[in-house]
Amino acid sequence: MKKYLAYILAVAVILLNGIPYIALSDGAGADEERVPKSKVEKMEEEISESGVTITVKRVATGEYLTLPLEEYVACVVASEMYGQFEMEALKAQAVAARTYGLARVGDLCDTVHCQAFATEEELREKQGDEWMDKYWGKFLEAAVETQGEVVYYDDELASYLMFHSSSGGRTENSEEVFPYMVPYLRSVKSPYEDDASHKQETQTVSIDSFVRAVNGLNRKPIKETDVQKMEITARTTGGRVKTIQIGNNEFTGGEIRDLFGLASANFTYNIEDYHVIFTTTGFGHGVGMSQYGANGMAKKGYNYKQILKHYYTGIDMGQVTDEIIEKSNNTTGPAENEDKASDKTDQKTEVTTTEKTTDQKTDTNTSEKKTDQKTEVNTSEKKAEDKTDKSQKTDTTKTKKTD
Ligand SMILES: [Zn+2]
Repeated sequence: MKKYLAYILAVAVILLNGIPYIALSDGAGADEERVPKSKVEKMEEEISESGVTITVKRVATGEYLTLPLEEYVACVVASEMYGQFEMEALKAQAVAARTYGLARVGDLCDTVHCQAFATEEELREKQGDEWMDKYWGKFLEAAVETQGEVVYYDDELASYLMFHSSSGGRTENSEEVFPYMVPYLRSVKSPYEDDASHKQETQTVSIDSFVRAVNGLNRKPIKETDVQKMEITARTTGGRVKTIQIGNNEFTGGEIRDLFGLASANFTYNIEDYHVIFTTTGFGHGVGMSQYGANGMAKKGYNYKQILKHYYTGIDMGQVTDEIIEKSNNTTGPAENEDKASDKTDQKTEVTTTEKTTDQKTDTNTSEKKTDQKTEVNTSEKKAEDKTDKSQKTDTTKTKKTD
């Protein structure tokens, strides 16, 4: 039966892929897409009357905020995505945000530790009236049109719906980037990332600074001659550097990415004129949904369900159960055995947090207002590495290729 279903799905995907689709977005700017004010008000009313709530910890104040679930979803999409993105991509993010939030009831916070969240008023304050008037309706619509929909894997909420900015062409298996294997985080092609903000970037580091930075990691000390002889020893399925040998140390691509603030661990390098020149592809850790890839798929005519099923292997989608709603409605503060529960969560999400934090720092170079808000939301989550990264950045020059 399952095989039969998979077959039907495969045929459906092939069929839909083959049908020439008129992309509504082509030619229609954000202004034409603007959701009418009357509809925005209607959606807000509908959301607040739904009776389903979620509670989120405001890390900056330590307070717990209880709000309608779908308002929370719209606020997360507004914090994590771009307003000018296609509706189907925003809807995919909305379903992921809802699932992620409900899977963490009792331990849910408002930073990238979980997923970035700012209230409607905070968004307006940070992004301005024009931005809110233009996009808030779209974020609400993404939540309302997917109301109550969540992602399941093996009949449980899929609680590791990770995402990143752009993969560079292929996403990664979770265990090749993070210390854990998640069955639905498999390496898949991500073919429609043409609009991504970081496609190919070069970053130059003098050999001096390179040696100093690497030795700052307190491993076996390296010399300048070791840099000349360093070697990439393994790559991941998605093309990122898995391991790199420098002197008597083996580093992961992620360590080198963090150390030099590279856009991704998918890099090559040249050594020229006493400098290491990195060339990176994509932006972010590469695991799960590519946001630019999702937007590209939406432009090609795929809907949010197809987008989610593409990036999360073997998942199912459906309505949230009464049991989950009840748990969310009844949890208006920290989880009962918070210490134990959050210890566990922390361990698992630690790596994610570091990766996401790096994304937003690097993002500061290209995206304007959006980043201000993200960075601000993140301040409480800052890690020790941030400092290292910032000091490294002064030693490096970053150039962006135009193609
Ligand atoms: Zn959290």
